[in-house]
Amino acid sequence: MERVNIRVSEAEGVVGSDVPLLIIGDAARGPTVSVMAGVHGAEYVAMRALQQFLDQVDESRLQGCLRVVPIANLASFHARSAFVTPHDGKNLNRCFPGDPRGSFSDRLAAALFENVIQPSAFHVDMHSGDLVEDLVPFALYDESPVSEKAREMAHAYGLDYVIRVERSESPIAGTSSAAAAQVGVPAITAEVGGRGLVDRESVQRHLTGLRRVLAHLGVLAAEPSSATPSKEVGQWSWLRSPVAGWWECDVRVGEEVAAGSRLGTVRPLGGGDYVDITAPTRGTPLFVTTSPAVTDDGLLLGFGVL
Ligand SMILES: [Zn+2]
Repeated sequence: MERVNIRVSEAEGVVGSDVPLLIIGDAARGPTVSVMAGVHGAEYVAMRALQQFLDQVDESRLQGCLRVVPIANLASFHARSAFVTPHDGKNLNRCFPGDPRGSFSDRLAAALFENVIQPSAFHVDMHSGDLVEDLVPFALYDESPVSEKAREMAHAYGLDYVIRVERSESPIAGTSSAAAAQVGVPAITAEVGGRGLVDRESVQRHLTGLRRVLAHLGVLAAEPSSATPSKEVGQWSWLRSPVAGWWECDVRVGEEVAAGSRLGTVRPLGGGDYVDITAPTRGTPLFVTTSPAVTDDGLLLGFGVL
């Protein structure tokens, strides 16, 4: 195992930083796979699962090479910062492939992209719900010329849902998996756990998923147990609050609901009527903001169309 530090360059008004990268195995024996956690610094289940994987991995048996970043955004981790990097208020997972001349998050994204993702044949980005986010386990992949391989990886992870993100309708841009796909690296974003918790069951689910996808890619020996097939979500929409106020969600993540049914309400803080948030179609909430505090146009939930 080789340990190197990726340097995030310093510039006027922009701090520098080192990100530990572990290089494990031998690229002559099989594919190179990049595996990251901690792009969001308070998504602990993903980080814990990846650390557990590193504690257990037998390097001599790897049929390939892993480029592993256990915690990609250390600044957010130390600050316990949800969603954004404290230095510049940007969401790192909207900054890929990055910009070496931009602000801290842009530089960090560029350094990760250049040193971890681009030299790899496949990319796995491990996430969880953030501090105020609950979710049903899912894996997503992006529409691209390599999307069939990415789709297979998403299914191999064995989570409840698999989402295909079409480029034209994506509510988000600049994710590590989308940027990887654009340079021909099949990639997935896998999400398990959330709300700042480190529960054992979710850690195990993430760890098993990672092992399964590495087995699917031929880097690890095949996993003995097979996963329950994931349900496919053809489209997802992100529902936002029409007003600032107090958000209360009436449904659980993964609960299937009919079109038009009430998902929750937002109450304006200064008084006034509740605003009902309703399901745009038949589907299920894949992630939900658990904090009652929402801003005008604040994100409430991600709704998967079934
Ligand atoms: Zn995340």
